[in-house]
Amino acid sequence: MTAAPSQPSAIEVVGLTKRYGTGKPAVDSINLRIASGSYCCLLGPSGCGKSTTLRMIAGHESVSSGDVLLENRNITNLPAAERGTAMMFQSFALFPHLSALDNVAFSLKMKGVGKAERLAKAQDLLERVAMGQLAGRKPGELSGGQQQRVALARALITQPKALLLDEPLSALDPFLRIQMRAELRRWQKELGLTFIHVTHSQEEAMALADTMVVMNHGVIEQCGSPHTIYNKPLNEFVARFMGGHNVIETSAGKIGVRTDQTRIAHADSSETAGLPSIAAVVTDVEYQGTYVLLGLQNPGSSHAVVATAEYAVMLSEGQFSAKPFAVGDAVHLAWTPESAHALQG
Ligand code: ADP
Ligand code: MG
Repeated sequence: MTAAPSQPSAIEVVGLTKRYGTGKPAVDSINLRIASGSYCCLLGPSGCGKSTTLRMIAGHESVSSGDVLLENRNITNLPAAERGTAMMFQSFALFPHLSALDNVAFSLKMKGVGKAERLAKAQDLLERVAMGQLAGRKPGELSGGQQQRVALARALITQPKALLLDEPLSALDPFLRIQMRAELRRWQKELGLTFIHVTHSQEEAMALADTMVVMNHGVIEQCGSPHTIYNKPLNEFVARFMGGHNVIETSAGKIGVRTDQTRIAHADSSETAGLPSIAAVVTDVEYQGTYVLLGLQNPGSSHAVVATAEYAVMLSEGQFSAKPFAVGDAVHLAWTPESAHALQG
């Protein structure tokens, strides 16, 4: 777990815990190292402790126990403004009555920096995010993308070592959200700054992150690259939360198989003979454009609300039209040993 010397950890979290009441902690003794200059996404279902973790790193929430280190300096008990971190909020939270320039200069004004100096710094930052020409405009006169750049410049004016973003894209419509996330990723790379981005969207985290931290009930379930998390989910929770996997109970234990690697054949066909398989019935056929998604159920458990009794198979449009399946078809779900990996209990 030791970070290589060429990639010092910007943020380190050690045994970090938050208790709001007497019950189970909202964040339960988590350990995490985030490499300097990387894009980290904290991902998990609503209420799993993502925002609480981010707020403890930012200094907007007190810590019950544990430590937060920024570039090896213990910042656990420092006020937010003295930590070297900055926050960017949902829908950017710009002051509507202030120009882009005054929005960016605002925190320096609060710090008592003289007008000429703070406006010069703000102008300089707006130039860096290609907004120099529009410095005089108010947020209402800017597009969503331009507003995001102003919000970024405003967060950067304190010269943070890490930028913390709590669901910055979740209030945007889907089209804008995808545009904006590409832009966030681009600025993060250009600035070489450490970003920690909280999201409940698997897709968003996969698109953005160098490192994904999957949380559940206040603990970290898995930490790794999007590729590792998607291809080798550690346990059933991660496999199900990430989606795109079948969790299958076998005599040797529980396994995960990607839905696009799960084989399917009609029950009376011998196409999957010799492969490990289970019997299932097609319950759903969804046309998705480039692929067709089949929903399936284990015939023995059609009444039981057992999560492991439901499966999915993703077939390319070509595969499906060559060999169609219909609701009610009895099938074998099969997998190759290479496509299956064991899930921890
Ligand atoms: P997430 O951001 O992953 O949705 P949060 O970190 O906001 O989750 O919340 C984690 C848990 O802590 C939830 O159960 C939530 O209800 C609880 N919680 C969050 N903030 C407070 C608070 N100020 N007081 C009491 N409980 C809180
Ligand atoms: Mg939250």
